[in-house]
Amino acid sequence: MAADVLAEAGVDVTLFDKRSSPGRKLLVAGSSGLNVTNAVPLDEFVAQYTGPAEHWNSVIGGFTPKNWLRHIENKLGTPTFLGTSGRYFVEDMKAASLLRAWTDRLHELAVHFEYGLECIGVESKGGRVTLTMRSAAGDEPHDFDAVCFALGGGSWEPKEDPLRWPALFRERGVEFEAFRPANAGYRVAWSEAFLKEAEGQPLKGVVLTTPKGSRKADAMVTRYGIEGTPVYFVGVTGPATLDLQPDLSDAKLLERLRAVKENLSPIRRVKKQLHLCPAALALIFHHTPKEVLEDRGLERLVARIKAFPLELLGPQPLAEAISSGGGIRFSELDPALMLHKLPGVFAAGEMLDWEAPTGGFLIQGCVSEGVAAARGILKRIGRADDSPSAGPA
Ligand SMILES: Cc1cc2nc3c(=O)[nH]c(=O)nc-3n(C[C@H](O)[C@H](O)[C@H](O)COP(=O)(O)OP(=O)(O)OC[C@H]3O[C@@H](n4cnc5c(N)ncnc54)[C@H](O)[C@@H]3O)c2cc1C
Repeated sequence: MAADVLAEAGVDVTLFDKRSSPGRKLLVAGSSGLNVTNAVPLDEFVAQYTGPAEHWNSVIGGFTPKNWLRHIENKLGTPTFLGTSGRYFVEDMKAASLLRAWTDRLHELAVHFEYGLECIGVESKGGRVTLTMRSAAGDEPHDFDAVCFALGGGSWEPKEDPLRWPALFRERGVEFEAFRPANAGYRVAWSEAFLKEAEGQPLKGVVLTTPKGSRKADAMVTRYGIEGTPVYFVGVTGPATLDLQPDLSDAKLLERLRAVKENLSPIRRVKKQLHLCPAALALIFHHTPKEVLEDRGLERLVARIKAFPLELLGPQPLAEAISSGGGIRFSELDPALMLHKLPGVFAAGEMLDWEAPTGGFLIQGCVSEGVAAARGILKRIGRADDSPSAGPA
């Protein structure tokens, strides 16, 4: 995004990536339906992010969800649609066509792409920034007026533990919060019998409650535990409960179960009367003590359906999380996202110390920061157009 804004303003831009092609994380994100932003009102939107409120008011206000959608639709020629959940998606749900359109546009804007080069050194001296780039051919210095880093937060980087790039900045005294998994699944000790029936299936419309709060949505049963919106929002290590039938009160559930005239076992009554999804039924069947399952009084079973006890054993590792918390502290940055200790060096995206929930807030945060950093660079190199209509908005 930063390259886009700069190149559109006529700046000569080189885009490096240590990988052999750009945007790999975007492709990973697209594998589960590329959700690009969200329809919540702007004040609610900015409240989704950790980190200084003034930063997000300025960054998201400076390149809003509407601006981003217009960019995707008009400049990248990729249609989007608003899902029923209030999330915006690209029409084909995949990232590949968006990424292709974007790299094509950047090529047209004369951005130079340099792949397979890893930045291993950064220096700021006399108004210039020098990067040391490592490739199979050796290390080479590259000189620039300004640099914007967007190195990511280490999620989905299974081959790098610990992440290599923080060393670049640590050497320069830049302060970090340690990276940790965010929007991560949690481990649960499921029985094999339960997994046999429910692995890969949704627990539909459940409410997960933890000391962090409650969240209603579908959760996914995985071999190691549980994934999905409820756990991303309120997941925390320790005891939790699942309401498997949040639309009915305890009394209503009891009434329904007792209304069955035939002499059915409690579990068969549940199956017949409550219309639970298969994974919820399997959970009750395989993870409920026998004496509760056989109790014809039904109260204890109803109490379990309304507050199914779950022990969240801990988040999945960073390498398997959707995003990360931690990163370069905001106290290290000026409002234009330039590092105080490295004049001319800007940073954007998940490498900064913020978190946001899934729902399009992550990508929106990254692209809005990319625009903010690019505008900072334009100002620094004396190419800013200060008119209110400046920039891609
Ligand atoms: C499974 C999954 C699903 C997701 N789904 C969504 C979604 O639907 N909606 C949403 O908003 N977000 C989603 N996200 C999150 C989103 O993909 C990220 O927030 C976003 O990609 C972060 O962008 P970034 O530019 O900060 O970092 P990244 O996209 O991680 O990019 C960092 C880049 O820097 C390169 N790099 C790192 N170190 C160096 C170095 N030293 N030298 C040169 N290059 C280097 C890396 O190769 C990489 O290409 C998802 C993430 C995952 C893992």
